[in-house]
Amino acid sequence: MSEIPTAEQFDLVVVGGGPGGYSAALYAASAGMKVAMVEKDALGGTCLNRGCIPAKAFLETAAVHRHVAHAAEFGIESSAPTVNFAVTQQRKQKIVDGLVGGIAGMCKNRKVEVRNGTGRLGAGHTVTVTSPDGSTTELVGTSVILAAGSVPRLIPNFERGGPIMTSDEVLDLDYVPQRVVVIGGGAIGCEFASTFSDLGAEVTILEGLPKILPGLDSDVANVVVRSFKKKKINIRTGVNVTGHTPNDSGGTVVQFGEGETLEVDAVIVSVGRRPYSDELGLDGTGVVVCDRGFVEVDEFCRTGEDGVYAVGDLINTPQLAHVGYAEAIVCVKQALGERALPVQYDRVPWAIYCHPEVAFAGPGEEEAKAAGFNVVVAKHPFKANSRARIIDETDGLAKVIAEVGPDGRAGRILGVHMVGPWVTEQLIGGYLAVNWEATVDEVAEFIQPHPSLTELFGETVLSLTGRSFNG
Ligand SMILES: Cc1cc2nc3c(=O)[nH]c(=O)nc-3n(C[C@H](O)[C@H](O)[C@H](O)COP(=O)(O)OP(=O)(O)OC[C@H]3O[C@@H](n4cnc5c(N)ncnc54)[C@H](O)[C@@H]3O)c2cc1C
Repeated sequence: MSEIPTAEQFDLVVVGGGPGGYSAALYAASAGMKVAMVEKDALGGTCLNRGCIPAKAFLETAAVHRHVAHAAEFGIESSAPTVNFAVTQQRKQKIVDGLVGGIAGMCKNRKVEVRNGTGRLGAGHTVTVTSPDGSTTELVGTSVILAAGSVPRLIPNFERGGPIMTSDEVLDLDYVPQRVVVIGGGAIGCEFASTFSDLGAEVTILEGLPKILPGLDSDVANVVVRSFKKKKINIRTGVNVTGHTPNDSGGTVVQFGEGETLEVDAVIVSVGRRPYSDELGLDGTGVVVCDRGFVEVDEFCRTGEDGVYAVGDLINTPQLAHVGYAEAIVCVKQALGERALPVQYDRVPWAIYCHPEVAFAGPGEEEAKAAGFNVVVAKHPFKANSRARIIDETDGLAKVIAEVGPDGRAGRILGVHMVGPWVTEQLIGGYLAVNWEATVDEVAEFIQPHPSLTELFGETVLSLTGRSFNG
């Protein structure tokens, strides 16, 4: 008589090997849990393979192009740069492959069982894994974390193929399309617009809302808009895109607004991402998926099924890799029976890597006022900062939003918003201030190195004490 294979038992089974999933698996394994992780495609998920990392590798090529183009101003004579984007693509892939290999190596070292296949959750915490060859195995976890992530959204009349691309296809390009339209002026759309403009393409952004980068503090968004206009990016807001007609040369003519058209070589559809709960099964479980496809969770990332959690882009929280990491820790701590604190979503760090970069934590000025805070605000421009002048990157500012204290002076720091050179690397001081609920007086005691870009944050906080060195 043939034996019925029994399900393999684990302390934790993770479905999805992107940032939410692999961080959960590695963190749990480091705490001594026996872990399995199921991934149907490549480890690293969207972030490593089709998102954060490749997009930033492209942006770095754009930065090198900018530097070489302006090298003469630094006393370095060189010929005008030309782009070999096939090399950029190879370089990007090497970075991606190295990082994906790194995750595989860490999983091996920590004895995380990685299963290649599609995982479907059924009753009793059972995850059925269907391998690419069609065979199935069953894994049972005392706890289960769903981390199936998201995929690009599309809009009617714009099916992928030929010149119509989502971020997935753009990041596989080995040439720079000469005329590009980006549909959607959110963070990802702006990163692509910035990249291709800096590499010499003619770029137009078509945004249905009244402004690009909605949700950003206005002072910050205005700097990006001015910088984009200097790069000759054509920004059209308040326009709806209706369709397109392919031309004979591999491009297409996009229709938008009141009968307007634009002929381009590439259309980048960047209108957001939808949660990918499509292949998770969930029959016979208490896990609830809402109309928009998000798995419903409480503030501790607990689904409707006891012991089953969901993290990352699969749930309706900020679609950021590091938010997935934070949620993973919250879940694993609970699986370990430890006390976990919910993620404070209104204070997570945000970073947009277009040129100029944007970074912030906490509410902007308008948002803080709308929330009923009595605020006092200080902002200082990078053109007053010595390091920014040395690197010749003076567009941008640091803005600090503080609550007016009982003594009428600037008290607790609510938000720190920055735009300019390398601000994504400078946010940490502001992030800590906001999350530590530190006051202006406390943070003003800290010293920033000189000359450094971070002096601008220090100076902005100092000015809120009522005294300052500059302006
Ligand atoms: C162009 C671009 C740039 C971005 N830049 C940034 C950035 O700079 N910073 C930032 O923080 N975020 C950025 N993001 C967002 C970031 O990539 C996502 O927030 C992050 O990847 C979400 O992680 P996740 O683990 O929830 O999902 P994903 O990364 O989408 O991973 C989910 C994984 O689950 C797998 N999977 C799905 N269903 C199943 C199943 N049933 N069985 C097995 N496996 C399954 C998928 O194959 C995938 O590998 C960017 C995204 C894009 C597209």
